[in-house]
Amino acid sequence: MDPVMSIVVATNNRGKLAEIRSILAHLPIEVLSMTEALGETPSIVENGTTFEDNAIIKARAVANRCKAITLADDSGLEVDALGGKPGVRSARFAGDGASDAQNNAELLKQLEDVSEEERVARFRCAIALVDPWQTTDAPMLVEGSCEGTIARTPTGTGGFGYDPLFIVAERGCTMAELDKAEKNRISHRGRALAALSPQIAALIERRVAAAAKLGTARD
Ligand code: IMP
Repeated sequence: MDPVMSIVVATNNRGKLAEIRSILAHLPIEVLSMTEALGETPSIVENGTTFEDNAIIKARAVANRCKAITLADDSGLEVDALGGKPGVRSARFAGDGASDAQNNAELLKQLEDVSEEERVARFRCAIALVDPWQTTDAPMLVEGSCEGTIARTPTGTGGFGYDPLFIVAERGCTMAELDKAEKNRISHRGRALAALSPQIAALIERRVAAAAKLGTARD
């Protein structure tokens, strides 16, 4: 399937990028990383207080830099016993520049005295799509979530981030134990992108129609 248009993904997270590429593989689009689009990875200040705000901040910043349709995913883990933390600070729970292993260790430490019943959590994801050529200022915005609980020890090798500690309620195993296709079907990211796919398909149709009209005008 020849790509009809390109979409830049505003992330430095390889795990996210791989999942987004795979989930959108059925569409005739080329999914580019920031490095592929810009030749560098700009650092963006994510100072929003919600996943939605941060997704819009990242998508706008990169769309304006590379003048291309840009998708940004802001996601993370909300643990009820921690009042919704780590939330928007999921990537930096153990401090700026923390590794997945350090964030997971911090999570286990903070939940040491929390009982099984109280270890309820969910992954949440907000995705914004910004078209820098569109006259309207409103980005496309979709959300997805996935319910579960936090294990006492990590299990599984798939995915990234908190996956080895997150027991998926509807599967009874950790997210890291699922194969890639299964994670993408039920994850917060998979659900958000399933909601966005028809909107991207409509955007592609408009592009194809506009190109055809231009071609007819030239003939
Ligand atoms: P962001 O790049 O600011 O959106 O931060 C996302 C962070 O949330 C990641 O670094 C992970 O710690 C966590 N996270 C988001 N999605 C997932 C996932 O699918 N699995 C595991 N952890 C995730």
